[in-house]
Amino acid sequence: MRLHEYQSKEIFSNHQIPVPRGRLASSPEDAKLIAEELNRPVVLKAQVLVGGRGKAGGIRLVKSPGEASDEASKILGSKIKEIPVRRLLVEEAVNIQQEIYIGMTIDRDSGSTLLIASGEGGVDIEEVARTSPEKIGRVCVDPLLGLKDYQARNLAAEIELPRSLWRSFISITKGLYQSYQELDATLAEINPLVITADGRLIALDGKMIIDDNALFRHPDLIEKQDLSAEAPEEIEAHKFSLEYIKLSGNIGCLVNGAGLAMATMDIIQHNGGQPANFLDIGGGASAEKVAAALRIILQDPQVKTVLINIFGGITRCDEVAIGIKKILDQIKTDIPFIIRLVGTNEKEGREILASANLETADTLQEAAQKAVKNSLEYAHEHIS
Ligand code: GDP
Ligand code: MN
Repeated sequence: MRLHEYQSKEIFSNHQIPVPRGRLASSPEDAKLIAEELNRPVVLKAQVLVGGRGKAGGIRLVKSPGEASDEASKILGSKIKEIPVRRLLVEEAVNIQQEIYIGMTIDRDSGSTLLIASGEGGVDIEEVARTSPEKIGRVCVDPLLGLKDYQARNLAAEIELPRSLWRSFISITKGLYQSYQELDATLAEINPLVITADGRLIALDGKMIIDDNALFRHPDLIEKQDLSAEAPEEIEAHKFSLEYIKLSGNIGCLVNGAGLAMATMDIIQHNGGQPANFLDIGGGASAEKVAAALRIILQDPQVKTVLINIFGGITRCDEVAIGIKKILDQIKTDIPFIIRLVGTNEKEGREILASANLETADTLQEAAQKAVKNSLEYAHEHIS
């Protein structure tokens, strides 16, 4: 789950990270009122869950309450990168001397949290990593010890931060680490952290991503979840507790179990095809769940064929077959299917499929070969 800038900043602020004064506005009148309260130039910041809002016109600097109201009426209701803007963060404008980057995420190589910083902030950190990797400092945080002062100090020295700001930098990085830990985040980022003209550090932007598997520990956040920037298929899948990830190929996959789903994608690739998605329906899936999964797969216009691979244990093959038949009665499609069902109630499952004229395969290899062939033929027929 991605948090809005205003939510991240609220959390940061609770962890001793300085942020500009400001509030949320959902109308031009609100924006005007907040600008009057702040009584100085303000920035209007579109609260949409996309990166690079600045370049896309989602950040406006204004000098007066009247101007705040005018600009707010232009941004509210408009779209930034296809996402409608419903709320603005109205904050006191800051005089920037330098923009810095700090962020932390999970580093799978070291099996710990990685804190990175760069004196070149405000821009895409990926871009800095490409063009001048030497300008990025890194620190691994031991999960048992937490972030230590000396580590943050080393990082401050590495990015050539003025010595007078080191104490503040240490406090901010530790606050970021606490925010990251307490909220079960997979990413916490301040880009830019700025050095102001009067020599202070302040977080001008904030971004956090919370591990969805830990959301049950943060019910207050679930309530505020904004799904307007999420892929609609993934939202739909989530409703049915299906693990679905959209990929770039054209063979739709429906599998029970994450390991088997991975193996299925591998064998498709091995046979020269490309999976359109990862989809794990989990153990003991009902016909309704199978039907929902198939509906999601068939909604993807890239899908040219479907491969279903079920290893029946607690999942019953006949139940899966009923789900498949049900959805194909509802959605008329000429997309070819190949189904491999083995295990619990396999015979009953195959009978249901045969009665619906659906093709089955005995082995996964056979099914994968057939799916790849189907995808090529289908693509060919629909071009010529
Ligand atoms: P993003 O584009 O979505 O990452 O939005 P940011 O909040 O990072 O803002 C983008 C850029 O706008 C920053 O890097 C700054 O250069 C600029 N900006 C944002 N707030 C202020 C401000 O208060 N004063 C000034 N001068 N520039 C700002
Ligand atoms: Mn930013």
